[in-house]
Amino acid sequence: MKGGCDCGAVTLDIPGVPDRVNACPCGFCSKAGALWGYFPRDSVTVTGRTQLYRRASRRLEIHRCEECGILTHWLEPTGRWHETGVNMRCFDPDTVAAIEVVVDP
Ligand SMILES: [Zn+2]
Ligand SMILES: [Zn+2]
Repeated sequence: MKGGCDCGAVTLDIPGVPDRVNACPCGFCSKAGALWGYFPRDSVTVTGRTQLYRRASRRLEIHRCEECGILTHWLEPTGRWHETGVNMRCFDPDTVAAIEVVVDP
């Protein structure tokens, strides 16, 4: 399934619709309005230029479009985690609205 940021500079390609999405309640994600879908790292393709933010308390690199600022995905920089998180807000809203939402910090 293809999606992307608001301006179109960053595109995201994921292997399919996840069974559930996570409305992470942490300070960052709740302020950003992120809805995370988790996928094997190798299965997600991202194109376009992003800026990254490293949250002080965690080791994740959170990426946003350099142009429009929409939050697109996060990566764990050492590669120890096999998963990556993709902001499902970047995909077709009707498709995403049908996915079960969990709240998991
Ligand atoms: Zn953009
Ligand atoms: Zn969070």
